[in-house]
Amino acid sequence: MGKVTGFLEYERLEEGYQPVEKRLKNYKEFVIGLKADEAKVQGARCMDCGTPFCNNGCPVNNIIPDFNDLVFKGRWAEAFAVLSSTNNFPEFTGRICPAPCEAACTLNINSDAVGIKSIEHAIIDRAWEEGWVLPQPPAAKTGKKVAVIGSGPAGLAAAQQLARVGHAVTVFEKNDRVGGLLRYGIPDFKMEKSHIDRRVAQMEAEGVVFRTSTLVGEMPADSKVTNWAKDVVSAEQLKADFDAVLLCGGAEQSRDLPVPGRDLDGVHFAMEFLPQQNKVNAGDKVKGQLRADGKHVIVIGGGDTGSDCVGTSNRHGAASVTQFELMPMPPEQENKPLVWPYWPIKLRTSSSHEEGCAREFAIATKEFIGSKGKVTGLKTVHLEWKDGKMSEIPGTEKEYKADLVLLAMGFVSPVASVLEAFGVTRDSRGNAKASTDEGGYRTSVDKVFAAGDMRRGQSLVVWAIREGRQAAREVDTFLMGGSVLPR
Ligand SMILES: Cc1cc2nc3c(=O)[nH]c(=O)nc-3n(C[C@H](O)[C@H](O)[C@H](O)COP(=O)(O)OP(=O)(O)OC[C@H]3O[C@@H](n4cnc5c(N)ncnc54)[C@H](O)[C@@H]3O)c2cc1C
Ligand code: SF4
Repeated sequence: MGKVTGFLEYERLEEGYQPVEKRLKNYKEFVIGLKADEAKVQGARCMDCGTPFCNNGCPVNNIIPDFNDLVFKGRWAEAFAVLSSTNNFPEFTGRICPAPCEAACTLNINSDAVGIKSIEHAIIDRAWEEGWVLPQPPAAKTGKKVAVIGSGPAGLAAAQQLARVGHAVTVFEKNDRVGGLLRYGIPDFKMEKSHIDRRVAQMEAEGVVFRTSTLVGEMPADSKVTNWAKDVVSAEQLKADFDAVLLCGGAEQSRDLPVPGRDLDGVHFAMEFLPQQNKVNAGDKVKGQLRADGKHVIVIGGGDTGSDCVGTSNRHGAASVTQFELMPMPPEQENKPLVWPYWPIKLRTSSSHEEGCAREFAIATKEFIGSKGKVTGLKTVHLEWKDGKMSEIPGTEKEYKADLVLLAMGFVSPVASVLEAFGVTRDSRGNAKASTDEGGYRTSVDKVFAAGDMRRGQSLVVWAIREGRQAAREVDTFLMGGSVLPR
């Protein structure tokens, strides 16, 4: 364990942020990671509490007490080896994971959790700096070919695992760059894209082939989903050419708000707005980029995507940013004895909120209003929630001024067309139906598997990595009759 009395001696230390006025001037990451001696103190706070709930709270089951202890002892290379045994991409999760592990930390019952995510961040950044992150090409090739559809964290994790046991893996991606929502969704200020690029280089050295701008199946003509495909490959062709196919196409179908005025100019899905800025940051020219400069922006939806719209709008120089949430404001502090070790519902104020944003809770949008085809505002009403049911509060109707409205109300399902192209059965929520039991991740179609948001619905990067890893093991077992890959 860390230091026996460390949790009594040391306070939790948060990672630093650059000041708001400085970070709003660009799209670069602004979190200041822990220095080695600070990470050591954080590691010392770990109690190695017999039954490490953090390890179960973490979807990839990172072996947290072990790497905490190694960091405390200054054995960084070993800490990296432990971390990378369970997580292909700790530099992604160390930056953007909401850290359910910390909610589950035993110290969190009556004190502040160990800063597990900040330690993970420090280990992997040091590993890259030291040159410890190297390609791991397979000792021998199996002669089997696997197609992975989608290059988000699920597809990347699966492709890396499968390549390392000797399969010839090709990743098909309809967008022009690899990374899924890590690339075209999550803003650069939360995670710079060079982290994806160096992983792609590592994976190419391990034998993975990436075919970007290549759509598998068809895209509905009216789709608002990102798609820079130049080539199209049919599902039938893939099934004929590959020994196994893994669908990791994400859950890209945004939830809409079909109220009067929805078709006004200036009302857009968040996923029309965010990827464009990521492209511009990458040096691309985006004709007619959707921008928030000088505009009154209303973001509808209180989650991560909404928060990313807030941060991007503020960087554009919006006149005002207001975020609406349908649910009532949650408590600032959870009832820890009641909810620990689970993920608590509580008020979360993101770094983007801190940069400037008014927040409205328990509010519904009744109508978008406009002039000459352009949105100028919206009509709202406040809601009362009782026994899980909402009702409008009479007399609370209000109008808000808005020049740009961003719909960030989550994602309903994968785009149906790729699942239909493979003839895969969908579950009641429209996701690819594939259980995660032993021998799992299999769809209704022979040799076709599914993982990540495409299978579980809209989720988190860390869950996508877990599903990609587990699905890789199932694909390997299917191809080889057994697998050395971890479960
Ligand atoms: C704006 C935003 C912010 C988020 N922030 C966070 C966060 O801070 N932390 C966190 O943990 N999670 C966050 N999430 C959620 C997280 O990004 C997703 O849960 C995760 O990326 C899902 O990974 P995936 O690999 O399953 O799918 P995706 O990342 O969606 O990748 C799927 C890929 O498949 C490709 N594809 C789809 N269909 C086809 C086809 N027919 N042919 C070829 N390619 C295809 C897509 O182009 C895409 O690149 C955020 C999501 C959004 C939208
Ligand atoms: S991946 Fe997320 S849950 Fe797991 S240890 Fe890292 S921050 Fe915690």
